[in-house]
Amino acid sequence: MGNKKQGINTICTHFGELKDEQFKGAISPLYMSTSYAFEDVEVKRYPRYFNTPNQVALSEKIAALEHAEAAMIFGSGMAAVSTALLAFLKSGDHVVLQKTLYGGTYNLVVEEFEKFGISYSFTDGLSSNDFEAKIQENTKVLYIETPSNPLLTITDLAAVSKLAKKHGLVSMIDNTFASPVNQNPIDFGIDVVIHSATKYMGGHSDILAGAVASTKENMERVFHLAKNLGGSLSDYTVWLLERSIKTMGIRVKAQNENAQIMAEYLYNSKDIQAVYYPGLPSHPDHELAKSQMKGFGGMLSFELNSTIDASLFQKELKLIKSSMSLAGVESTLLSPTKTSHALLSPEERANQNIADGLIRFSVGIEEAEDLIADIEQAITKVKN
Ligand SMILES: *Cc1c(COP(=O)(O)O)cnc(C)c1O
Repeated sequence: MGNKKQGINTICTHFGELKDEQFKGAISPLYMSTSYAFEDVEVKRYPRYFNTPNQVALSEKIAALEHAEAAMIFGSGMAAVSTALLAFLKSGDHVVLQKTLYGGTYNLVVEEFEKFGISYSFTDGLSSNDFEAKIQENTKVLYIETPSNPLLTITDLAAVSKLAKKHGLVSMIDNTFASPVNQNPIDFGIDVVIHSATKYMGGHSDILAGAVASTKENMERVFHLAKNLGGSLSDYTVWLLERSIKTMGIRVKAQNENAQIMAEYLYNSKDIQAVYYPGLPSHPDHELAKSQMKGFGGMLSFELNSTIDASLFQKELKLIKSSMSLAGVESTLLSPTKTSHALLSPEERANQNIADGLIRFSVGIEEAEDLIADIEQAITKVKN
């Protein structure tokens, strides 16, 4: 595909855009029709068939961003995750999933898969051997997330894809935290790429959406299930998402830069016990991250010294908001124990090394010195 040669910001701004033939407007027109004539046309268009003009145009942009042949847009990240997994798994099959996963994905698997007759194993670690150890005769899918939520662990894309090929499995990744700006897993041989477009693709905390990208053949399979499950996105939101993605390249690069500054500041602060960020040389997988990522992303997490109360600290922040979601242009933070990972048992959290005082930090595009000043004033208040 010729689009691979264009740079990220060019694809973000232009790829797949619709032309306004009637009025020559600058941006893609929005087609809200749920009904299209089907006489004398080849394509039967309908929003739940994922083939309205705006859906098709944005899918092409997302496919280009992920170096994929095809893509689909969903009504949420979880609609994308569940449809992708269930498209490649049937009753009697088994899936191997990475131990550290987005809470919603973990819940989907442990709460729903049994009733579909699908069995699963979580890895004990993130090495290729950890994945191979869980593969059974009926395993069909390897599922990973890197960088992961909330500890920013890194999984080796090339090693996982090699393992999947060796055993004839489909490899899948949740690429949400990296965004297509920082990581293109298909270049490393991963088969299916999933996004919560609610995060970096949307980028302004005002859109709920998801995406899946892969080969045409794999996307046929995803489509076959998706049209029956019905998790499509309204065309109005598709249009808004296209608008958001135009600036994704510059937003994410600014967030990469800010996150690096914040990670270094926190790492050098005597009030902070631990910082987890793949861009820090102290991160155990810094070299691996460097080899497979173009930027280290806008997400990090940290633990305050045990003498500082993490809840009080968050209450004292003035600029940085405590908030559930992530990846917006505004900086937010949260306690995974109380929010994203609250549904996990304390044992399960301990197993994933999620400390009660851990704080997940989604770094926005504000001036880094203002973010640092906010954290410093909050720590000073809580310490006194
Ligand atoms: C938010 C998120 C999801 C789920 O996406 P929704 O849009 O909330 O359904 C999946 N994976 C990761 C890594 C996420 O951060």
